[in-house]
Order: sequence, then structure tokens, then C-alpha cells
Amino acid sequence: MEKICVAVRVRPSTTTNEEESVVNGFHWKVESNRISLNRSHGTPISGISFAFDHVFDQDCSNVRVYELLTRDIIHAAVEGFNGTAFAYGQTSSGKTFTMNGSENDPGIIQRAVRDIFEKIQKTSDREFLIRVSYMEIYNEDINDLFSVENQKLQIHESLDRGVFVAGLREEIVNSADQVLDLIQLGEANRHFGHTNMNARSSRSHTIFRMVIESKRKDNKPSNSSSSDDAIRVSVLNLVDLAGSERVAKTGAGGVRLKEGKHINKSLMILGNVINKLSEGGKQRGHIPYRDSKLTRILQPALGGNAKTSIICTVAPEEIHIEETKGTLQFASRAK
Ligand code: ADP
Ligand code: MG
Repeated sequence: MEKICVAVRVRPSTTTNEEESVVNGFHWKVESNRISLNRSHGTPISGISFAFDHVFDQDCSNVRVYELLTRDIIHAAVEGFNGTAFAYGQTSSGKTFTMNGSENDPGIIQRAVRDIFEKIQKTSDREFLIRVSYMEIYNEDINDLFSVENQKLQIHESLDRGVFVAGLREEIVNSADQVLDLIQLGEANRHFGHTNMNARSSRSHTIFRMVIESKRKDNKPSNSSSSDDAIRVSVLNLVDLAGSERVAKTGAGGVRLKEGKHINKSLMILGNVINKLSEGGKQRGHIPYRDSKLTRILQPALGGNAKTSIICTVAPEEIHIEETKGTLQFASRAK
């Protein structure tokens, strides 16, 4: 089992008013791979300090996050290993900024797509077939973001395909630009019929998936039974999770409450699955993949020899301390 790589990223403060940003004088301090809660006069608060594989401060760019956290997963995917990268955190902590980036600083998805096609171009002895799909899980319903009519899709399992989402549109693609256009189409589809698209997207898990298949170009029978001769198929999932904030805090009722319960439950199950995987060894026992649609869909590329990374995004402001602690605890359980 591969070790799960866990990182925390603190976004820049969005509070313009200095007064507002200081209530009791607590702030998060980042020092190399450690994040700690300090008082304003600098003394650390005992017991609230966490270390991870990486902690990225507010000045860290998406390029750096990509290089340190995701590039290995992407390169391994081209070589036939499954991989999954998640962004976890409360709404407005920077998950989408990390996965999709901004105009000046493309996110992990854009960089991964470009990197994959570059690497393929350099792998002259193999022939590739790339398929992409894009889906959201909203209230435990799976919806196709490439095709608005494909709503409430079901998960099936078969001997030759394993676990799959029946009816999900898969596009065969030949270039990075083609994939990036498709993602834009997916985002546009998501607006369809939803008056408050931002609220909706923060209440759903989004999975961008690439399936990378390759075989040797010359079909010369070879004496060696080298793994180079086999057809390789790998699945790569890039996941922007629903906001992890607790429902009770938002004083929600009705639809919001129902959404919140689904989100909390599926994130809890994801946490359990990842925690079991990171424990490793024999004592780990049963892994509850089947308890949520999210973990079931991701199962083939989560665990086993799949490569996994989690970036937990947090807000620096004092008003978010409790949510930030919750996120850091989730991150700690994944280590
Ligand atoms: P989430 O997807 O977690 O709800 P967003 O990614 O939408 O959060 O981020 C909320 C706001 O903060 C957006 O305006 C985004 O551009 C900005 N932001 C988030 N992270 C960063 C960052 N690391 N650097 C600059 N701006 C950021
Ligand atoms: Mg978002």
C-alpha cells in the first residue's frame, strides 16, 4: 500500500479590515511542514499544532502545489498506476482555486491535463487512448456534467469493468485543449437550471476522471514477458469535495439540512476509508468503500497500489478557527 500524501494549504486572508480579522488575537502560524495556533504575542497554544507532508502558506502558488503534491501521481498514471487527488475543506477555503485555479495561475486539473499530454508525446514507443468524464455527486445523486440529461446515474459492477457509473458520458480525447474545453462545457452545464450555481457547487462533490490506456506500438512478439508488453489501464480522479462545514453552524433547515447531512455523512465515510487505508497492515480490516457513492466510485483508484494525495484547504481568519481545527483533524487522520 502506498502512503497517502497529506498537505494543508492556507489561503490568503480575504478580510480587508484589520480589526475584523483579530477577535481574540489567535492566528495560524506556518513553519516548514507544521501549522500551529498561536496567540498574537507569539506564544503557541499547547496541543494545537499539526505536522504534515507539506504545509503551504498563503504565498504558495498552484505551480508549487502541483509540483510537490500531484506531479508524481500524474506521471505514475501515464505509466499505468491509478491515482486520486482530493481537495478537502470548508466552503471558501480554496478547494476550487487549488483544483481549477485562476486565469493567471492554472490549477491542478489544468496542469495535470497538460502534463499528461506532454508526457504521452515523449513516450514514443507506446500508443495511448485517453478518455475523460466529469461528474458531480449532489445529495447522493450522480449527475453527468458533460451531459445535462444524464441525471441520477446508477453505480454498477461487472466482472470485466469492475465498479462503474452506468450511462456516464466518456469522451475520447487527443489534446489538452480539447479536455480543457470539455471541462468548460461541464461547468456551463452545471449552471443549467440552477439559480445559485456557487452554492450548488459547494454542496456537491465533483470528480474529474481520466482513463489512460496504452500499449506498445510495435506489436512484435517478444520473448521477454516484460510488463511493457501488457496493455496498461489506469484511472486518475481529481476531486473537489463538497464544503466540510458542519450543518448545525449554518442554522440550516429544509433543503440545506438534507444536503448537509448527505455531505457530512459522505465526508465522514471518506475519512474512515482513508484512515483505514493509512493504517495499513493486517489490523486494518474491512474498508467501508460501499457505504457511500463517493468512496464506491473512487474505490478502484483508492488503496491498493494507487497513489493518493489530499490537500486540505483552510481559511486563516479567526472566525474560522473551529472549522480549521476540524479540517486539520481530518488531515491528521489521513496521515
Ligand atoms: P472553495 O472552493 O473551497 O469554496 P474557493 O476556491 O472558491 O473556495 O476560494 C474562495 C475565494 O478565495 C476565491 O475568490 C478564490 O479565488 C480565493 N482563493 C482561495 N485560495 C486562494 C489562494 N491560495 N490564493 C489566492 N486566492 C485564493
Ligand atoms: Mg468550490
